[in-house]
Amino acid sequence: MNTSATLLKAPLFIDGEFVESRGEQSLPVTNPATQQLLANVTFATSEEVDRAVASAKAAFESWRETPVSERARLMMRYQALLKEHHDELGALLAKDTGKVFEDAKGDVWRGIEVVEQAANIPSMLMGETVEGVAKGVDSYSYKQPLGVCVGITPFNFPAMIPLWMFPLAIAAGNTFVLKPSEQDPLTPVRLIELFIEAGAPAGVLNMVHGGPDVVDQLITHNDVKAVSFVGSSRVGQHVYETATKAGKRAQCMMGAKNHMVVMPDADRDATLNALVGASAGAAGQRCMAISVAVFVGDSANWIEDLAQRMKAAQPGAWDDKDAAYGPIISQASRDRVLKLIEAGKHEGATCHLDGSDVQVEGLPDGNWVGPTLFSDVTPDMAIYREEIFGPVLCCMQVETLDEAIATINALDVGNGTSIFTQSGGAARKFQHEIDVGQVGINIPIPVPLPFFSFTGWNGSFRGDLHAYGKQGVQFYTETKTITARWTHSDTGPNMSIALK
Ligand code: NAD
Repeated sequence: MNTSATLLKAPLFIDGEFVESRGEQSLPVTNPATQQLLANVTFATSEEVDRAVASAKAAFESWRETPVSERARLMMRYQALLKEHHDELGALLAKDTGKVFEDAKGDVWRGIEVVEQAANIPSMLMGETVEGVAKGVDSYSYKQPLGVCVGITPFNFPAMIPLWMFPLAIAAGNTFVLKPSEQDPLTPVRLIELFIEAGAPAGVLNMVHGGPDVVDQLITHNDVKAVSFVGSSRVGQHVYETATKAGKRAQCMMGAKNHMVVMPDADRDATLNALVGASAGAAGQRCMAISVAVFVGDSANWIEDLAQRMKAAQPGAWDDKDAAYGPIISQASRDRVLKLIEAGKHEGATCHLDGSDVQVEGLPDGNWVGPTLFSDVTPDMAIYREEIFGPVLCCMQVETLDEAIATINALDVGNGTSIFTQSGGAARKFQHEIDVGQVGINIPIPVPLPFFSFTGWNGSFRGDLHAYGKQGVQFYTETKTITARWTHSDTGPNMSIALK
């Protein structure tokens, strides 16, 4: 491990100040392409977590009274600053995660789009009105903020996912405590610096680092009202159950296994190229990555062609323009991916392309995994059951679209899916019958833009209201409905002349 370079800082952010944690547990943050030590992240103590929540609670009193147009303007300034620093944020994120530069910038960009949406908060907070529900009686509703909200985020989108959460929550009048992934906390630090530069008052946003203890303290804290979590299904189930048992509103966006159905009438080039990018892009470390291709009928003859195209998509350094994607986030995650590839071979899947031994010139220590392709995969195999989170594509072969739909619907996760076809009828049948919350038609990774919501289903989501969009606003607010009676005689003595 190279320790000679100047280390970056991953401090806590409490009550408007960056502070070094006094905690005793810390982890190295390394560049996954080189193992270079970038920073050490120290986990917050219980007292520091309490201080972060107390700061957010105190700030809520004045922040909720700040006019909504001012809160919107903060988001406008913030999105302008994020755009101004887009390249710099992309370069930092690329170091932190290993993502190739354009992909790292994409991570930032998809977050900026949510900040733009948060800048529209006045219209999104509009309630409903009905005049004259009884004689002299009107009813109307407001959306009011909840108080202190908490966000727990994963390693794979260190800009986009924090930005799914705190801008909308804060624009709606809440205050926030962010607990980013301990694996790549440097981008969130920069996101906060820019938020302060945009004019965010102290206490409105706080950040603590940590693992399970910090998370559990936050999600059961008496002064926390709502918990938004994104991460693996194993942790998400725990967070949902613990937070809701403690009386919190919770939304948990979790793990996935996303299928693309390939119909024999699909455009072959477009389909196979989309499959390469959607399975190996970002080293397969996307919750919406396509990890299973279901070939219907004769389209199965394209698998060898697909293997050749995948072979051309090789990993590399963040600034290598020819690299299709970067390394796996950690050595432990890489080992897990390699074990699953081995399991696939032993369980009888046909391995067309094996990326286990791939090397990247000049970067011998990176957590590399080359593109890997299996066919003849069946639902009982570990490579099908587990979320691999690596550049590994499993191919299944079926005879009919009905069979493809039944296979996908039999799985308990439902984040995203897609179909490639030239038949409107097949596409419509698929979109109607599939039990998955986000469907692409000739689009491999159908992540909704922020005026919609991110609507994973089944085992990919726990909660009632999804992230961002209208549902995100509803998640971070409570509806208050007012029924008011005023008769014209209530105008009072001073008003009687004016009203004549
Ligand atoms: P993870 O579950 O390991 O970590 C997520 C967060 O939970 C981190 O902040 C981590 O510190 C915390 N955490 C870890 N273990 C914990 C425990 N025992 N108790 C309490 N908190 C704990 O996930 P990850 O590896 O960082 O991210 C990858 C996963 O996230 C994949 O499964 C991916 O599908 C999923 N993901 C889902 C979505 C979605 O929208 N559905 C989006 C991105 C990522």
